[in-house]
Amino acid sequence: MADPMFIYSLCRDELETWLKNHKQPAFRAKQIWQWLYKHQVQSWDEMNNLPGSLRLALEEAFSLKPLEEVEVSSSSTGTRKILSRLHDNELIEEVLIPAEERRTVCVSSQVGCMFGCVFCASGQNGVKRNLSAGEIVGEFLAAQRAYGERVTNVVFMGIGEPFDNYDEVMKAIRILNDPEGIGLGARRITISTCGVIPGIERLAQEGLQVELSVSLHAPSDPIRDELMPVNATWAIDELLACCERYTKETKRIITFEYTMIRDVNDTERDCRELVLRLGRFPCRVNLIPLSEIEEYEGKTSTREKLEHFVGELEKAGINTTVRWSKGIDVNAACGQLRSQHERAD
Ligand code: SAH
Repeated sequence: MADPMFIYSLCRDELETWLKNHKQPAFRAKQIWQWLYKHQVQSWDEMNNLPGSLRLALEEAFSLKPLEEVEVSSSSTGTRKILSRLHDNELIEEVLIPAEERRTVCVSSQVGCMFGCVFCASGQNGVKRNLSAGEIVGEFLAAQRAYGERVTNVVFMGIGEPFDNYDEVMKAIRILNDPEGIGLGARRITISTCGVIPGIERLAQEGLQVELSVSLHAPSDPIRDELMPVNATWAIDELLACCERYTKETKRIITFEYTMIRDVNDTERDCRELVLRLGRFPCRVNLIPLSEIEEYEGKTSTREKLEHFVGELEKAGINTTVRWSKGIDVNAACGQLRSQHERAD
């Protein structure tokens, strides 16, 4: 059986074309768009200003249910994690991270991941497939339903490597960004990459104001080689040169993610090397205490080490934040809930 076509995989132009081919007036696109994204209806019948015959034709052509909620777990810090099942029974996760006025959702971009960072639960079994734009938009809508209010920020920091699924991720971003629908500002969307240079170069040409995070996790090639196999393809010098070009061309500041792992990448020498490397162009750093996972023996750094890194980076003029692992008690580290479920199955 062919994969279902999710209505959320269509950008507005494509919906207009489909309607035109079905001899429908152009204004129907706007009506449908509003049902989907303003009212977030879950059935075609609710689209009560559309003729019955059109509703039927839509129902035959498209699916309204890209994912089904399997489990929601919550933590004492307010973070919630949704485990979702896709039409082919694959599992993905979305994490809801409420903070002050923000309602953030962390979405997945693929089922699994091919990059195999050793500390990450998502990539331990490789990548099964890409998510479609409709499935990614579906994650956003599921999060909005779970919140019961508007989602204000989206981060591509769930399962998968967004630049390994470039086209569908970008399409999803354009659908989320469409002012006639969800209207989420591009600056409220963050793409996180493990360092896929061709993706960074393409993004620089998009003219989109999205935020870019680059997972660095090491100050030098020997350490990064141990942690991130991707470093064999795109090593640190080349990656940082690309990031510098990106910053110059787009005038946008990149955030480097650095997961702190005890005695692996948190020594005094690592700190000095990191400051040296990142001091060359404007950037930010986000330090993440390692979320310990079963598949990796590494331990998280001490609070002192974290504070030391923050101090040294800040001294060098690099704006630095620490992401105190909010979701630790809901297994919110990348891919953890999914990998637990797969083990249980
Ligand atoms: N593939 C993309 C996005 C997904 S991972 C990327 O690599 O950036 C999102 C972030 O979580 C990355 O910075 C990743 O390295 C980090 N991460 C994954 N597992 C982690 C763990 N166990 N503890 C802390 N951070 C982790």
